[in-house]
Amino acid sequence: MEDVNNHFDLIVVGAGPAGLMAAAFAAEAGLSVCVLEKNARAGMKLLLSGSGQCNLTRADDIRDFLTHYGRGERFVRSSLLNFTNTQLREFFHQLGVDSEDRGDGKVFPVSRRSHDVLEALLRCCRKSDVIIRYKSVVRYIEKDELFRIRTTDGRYSSDFVLLATGGLSYPTSGSTGDGYKLAAELGHHPLSPYPVLTPVTITSYPFSSCSGISFYSRMEIFRDGKKRADYRGDLLLTHKGFSGPLILNNSRDIEKGDILKIAFPGERKKEDLQKALLDEASSAGKKSLKKFLTSKGLPERFVRIMMSLCEIPEDLLLSQLNKKNRMILLDNLFGFSAIVKSKDGFNKAMATGGGIPREEVRGKTMASILVEGLYFAGEVLDIDGDTGGYNLQFAFSSGKMAADSIIRVAGAGLSART
Ligand SMILES: Cc1cc2nc3c(=O)[nH]c(=O)nc-3n(C[C@H](O)[C@H](O)[C@H](O)COP(=O)(O)OP(=O)(O)OC[C@H]3O[C@@H](n4cnc5c(N)ncnc54)[C@H](O)[C@@H]3O)c2cc1C
Repeated sequence: MEDVNNHFDLIVVGAGPAGLMAAAFAAEAGLSVCVLEKNARAGMKLLLSGSGQCNLTRADDIRDFLTHYGRGERFVRSSLLNFTNTQLREFFHQLGVDSEDRGDGKVFPVSRRSHDVLEALLRCCRKSDVIIRYKSVVRYIEKDELFRIRTTDGRYSSDFVLLATGGLSYPTSGSTGDGYKLAAELGHHPLSPYPVLTPVTITSYPFSSCSGISFYSRMEIFRDGKKRADYRGDLLLTHKGFSGPLILNNSRDIEKGDILKIAFPGERKKEDLQKALLDEASSAGKKSLKKFLTSKGLPERFVRIMMSLCEIPEDLLLSQLNKKNRMILLDNLFGFSAIVKSKDGFNKAMATGGGIPREEVRGKTMASILVEGLYFAGEVLDIDGDTGGYNLQFAFSSGKMAADSIIRVAGAGLSART
């Protein structure tokens, strides 16, 4: 039998951004709320976010967010409009954390410290008497008239449960996929999780020495001889392959064995570079090809590798470049074929695809359609956003939405108690 002191209106599983946001709002409305967190501290992944600076949202109109969640667009709509980026920034402002657009639409705390964002959330929870039990791993949840929750530090019961256990990426931060198992035991059918926002490793990769260089590029994805997709964005060369927003944001569409055709100088046209090359060869034939390419904005380290790939001597003059080599060079610059050896796994993925199916949860309330009183928020759901603040905004918005819904449903009970 549960200890009477371990009964709460709401048990939140997971002290990440989604769980803490929900707990703070639910408790402020008068619900007794307990957060069960397996780690010795809250928000480990939040602390890592944005390289420790926390890209908490974006400055765009909230409606412009919607297309940045893959097939989750319809599902995220209600929660994002219910608690927008503007409201999120105001919420943190009230807690003493001012934020600013970094200049590229990404919003960070002015202090550039994710620690400040986490501390503000925890302060808000403390103010509303949220109880947080650390080192408390939820092992099993069942439901009769109440939820019965078994953890490593004892048993709890509650009227409502919010599963905010995150996905499977960066498992060292605590999100090890427990939410899928807990939900499955309650009758849900989690979709197999897969890493997203992940870099790719390339077979026979020649650009290791160019690690850190990035270009605005075009990428076409080919599978079984057919073109599957065509994207543009910033591509980052790494030691073993490609990363940067162009790869991370589209990694959900890339599979092992795919051929990526990269046009490195994506904002330039092949014909224009060819024309400039021919013009300068006749007006300044003594200029080296290397100098010409670097003068067009291509980094020298990259130019060296590209010339060696095309078997063109480094000291070749423009007047010495024959048609065959010119074509080989332009083909490689504008259509470099790279075979995907692998996508990096959960250890390097910044988000998780799959998880609790959107069809099993109401996007307007975050309530389970299968188990009364059960709610979900954040990355445990089959929602993954692009890089740049979309995932944290969804975690916060879905946490707030779950809290609002629980407050509404609990309303009658609460007013009877007071
Ligand atoms: C390196 C990195 C950088 C990122 N940077 C950004 C960024 O700048 N901007 C952005 O928008 N997004 C970013 N993200 C993504 C963002 O951090 C996540 O989408 C967000 O943290 C998800 O929040 P959540 O509350 O759903 O889950 P989580 O933050 O994963 O929190 C889940 C919590 O549940 C706890 N838990 C799990 N199982 C149990 C259990 N059985 N019992 C008790 N507790 C449990 C975990 O310990 C954890 O504390 C980044 C991700 C990574 C990995």
